[in-house]
Amino acid sequence: MSDIFQTTAQHEYQRSAAQLKGSKDANSALEKSYARYDNLIATAFDDATTKPACKAGCAFCCYYKVEARAHEILLIKNYMNKNFSAEKIVAVLQQAAGNAEIIRTITPEQHLTTNLKCAMLDNNQCSIYPVRPFRCRNFHSTDALACEASFNNPADMEIATGMVEEVAILADAHTQGFEAAAEQAGRDNRIYDFNTALLEVFADDQPLKRYQRGKKTFQQAIEVIS
Ligand code: SF4
Repeated sequence: MSDIFQTTAQHEYQRSAAQLKGSKDANSALEKSYARYDNLIATAFDDATTKPACKAGCAFCCYYKVEARAHEILLIKNYMNKNFSAEKIVAVLQQAAGNAEIIRTITPEQHLTTNLKCAMLDNNQCSIYPVRPFRCRNFHSTDALACEASFNNPADMEIATGMVEEVAILADAHTQGFEAAAEQAGRDNRIYDFNTALLEVFADDQPLKRYQRGKKTFQQAIEVIS
């Protein structure tokens, strides 16, 4: 493990651990961690010699498998309740339900090679961009043509879209720092399939209550075993 990885992860762990302490949920700590992450990654891209090919309106990666932690799903629910109309929430949940129906009939490996439009993708833009999960934040590409080729040939796992290595290291380190702090604070740190978790979090308040008690947040959603 490189020094920069360790320093970044440790720094984020300390900041997040202090902000999670005594809080009922992780919303505020997670938003602050996302803000620090965005600053860190923007500076890292500025300093890097290789630049990402990602641009607004390019969304091939939003058809990949989407996964998130419990605190990320809970923050997304909050954001949607504050910023989406009731009709928009219904439309998102309908798209998630359609995806979930397919996901429950295929294996995790088949899911990796199946294009499914993310329920949050609206006009090729992420409709929850400020609170998108770390998994989405961490993805970038140096080759837009490779992204398009992967979208057109989802079963071809040999297509490499390329990443800026120094940025990817910092992104991973920061993410791990927050996740270690959440785990240390006794929070559910499991990874869930995004669609099935989104449906469950909007069904009632039980996921939030279980999260606050340090229990497994989702009982119906698919848990991702890594
Ligand atoms: S949450 Fe947003 S960034 Fe992530 S896959 Fe969905 S639309 Fe794309």
